[in-house]
Amino acid sequence: MKRAIYPGSFDPLTLGHIDIIERSSRLVDELIVAVLINSAKNSLFSINERVSMIKEAICDIPNVSVESFDGLTVDFAREREANMIVRGLRAVTDFEYELQIAQTNHIMNTDVDTIFLTTSLKYSYLSSTIVKEVASYGGDISKFVPAFIAERVYDKYK
Ligand code: ADP
Repeated sequence: MKRAIYPGSFDPLTLGHIDIIERSSRLVDELIVAVLINSAKNSLFSINERVSMIKEAICDIPNVSVESFDGLTVDFAREREANMIVRGLRAVTDFEYELQIAQTNHIMNTDVDTIFLTTSLKYSYLSSTIVKEVASYGGDISKFVPAFIAERVYDKYK
């Protein structure tokens, strides 16, 4: 049984994230999208809002589930008996940080390996931060997130 977790903030989920979820779900038997509860980060959406938006967006992919977690990603992976962590790489700027995290995680839990999927070119510019920035000025985010998420983002800035 190949079980992977895809950890992140997903504040909010973007089409770039969905692309990684769809592609990685085809590589494993089970994928858990794991939303990090990070009280240090000032987030736009609460954990429950983020989890429920992701559930709604991926409801038609049968082997994907969504959970929130607190603490170290490797500990959550161990709890769920997952031996793969999925991360997305957009640009070289992601690489150094991701390499450091992946190596640290592997030292802390040698049963867990990180696999990287390179972003689809059309989403290489896209991040949750960009979505929030554009929406905060009333810009069009319809090409960045699913329509129902766009509405909820605009609601936050009303
Ligand atoms: P974090 O705060 O952990 O970086 P994010 O929600 O920003 O959480 O990202 C979660 C994961 O999704 C990361 O591996 C990130 O590189 C990846 N990711 C984010 N945006 C994209 C995108 N447009 N294309 C591919 N991967 C992406």
